[in-house]
Amino acid sequence: MANDPQTCPICEFSSDAETDVYTHLLTSHRKRAITETLLEVRPAHAPQR
Ligand SMILES: [Zn+2]
Repeated sequence: MANDPQTCPICEFSSDAETDVYTHLLTSHRKRAITETLLEVRPAHAPQR
């Protein structure tokens, strides 16, 4: 099985390569947008690891 495609948490960009999504995040979104998204995702219903 191939790896699951990685998806940008902010938009619908996706790629098979995690590094592509990482680069996309750094180049297409400002750090502030990334941080705000992470803070929105974090609340209680986030899965525990
Ligand atoms: Zn994106």
